[in-house]
Amino acid sequence: MAEPVRIGLVLPEVMGTYGDSGNAVVLRQRLRLRGLPAEIIPITLAEPVPESLDLYTLGGAEDRAQRLARRHLLAHPGLQRAAARGAPVLAVCAAMQVLGHWYETAAGERVEGLSLLDLTTSPQPERTIGEVVSQPLLPGLSQPLTGFENHRGGTVLGPGAQPLARVTQGAGNFTGSGLDGAVQGSVVGTYLHGPCLARNPELADWLLARVVGPLLPLEMAEVEVLRRERIRAPHRG
Ligand code: GLN
Repeated sequence: MAEPVRIGLVLPEVMGTYGDSGNAVVLRQRLRLRGLPAEIIPITLAEPVPESLDLYTLGGAEDRAQRLARRHLLAHPGLQRAAARGAPVLAVCAAMQVLGHWYETAAGERVEGLSLLDLTTSPQPERTIGEVVSQPLLPGLSQPLTGFENHRGGTVLGPGAQPLARVTQGAGNFTGSGLDGAVQGSVVGTYLHGPCLARNPELADWLLARVVGPLLPLEMAEVEVLRRERIRAPHRG
């Protein structure tokens, strides 16, 4: 049997708000349903980040937990080495902020990041909370992306990063930006919680295809129902 695809679930005890760890479960399941073996490798604060895994997911975090994660990721640069060889990385909310050059805390302190994404983050006047719908700008994706956001930080992209999507409902990177997320090489950042990949199967398959090659679509009625339900949700009164 082929070697299993190894999915790194990075620091779920500090970066896993709103069920973001479910992104790794979705990736594993979408491989298994296609007959491809896959396993999740949880990486905790008690160990270095391995650079040898096939792809990585990181979730959101509250401010203090975000700091712990960032310190660990800088001290053990396995994620940076994996990204440098093209391993896909999905970073949600706080994780996207940490993968930028720096982020500023609500108290005005500037914290150095990993510089895997050409972006910086500063506090917005108001926290942005609610459902987001966006139209992907990533070649190969056509279905609207949905998720929910809850962040104080507002993220500005530099020229090295492309936005993931154009926002049609909600704030995304910052109120008024009209954009969500960042893509740079194999690294994808987004403000979408959900978990994001359960709601947005095309994005899950985009990440997986970078590891295993082109994938045929999976026809899953319940995933399609969830996807459509979430697109309608923000329009409810
Ligand atoms: N603590 C960060 C912020 O408020 C990220 C929050 C999150 O990951 N949901 O901007």
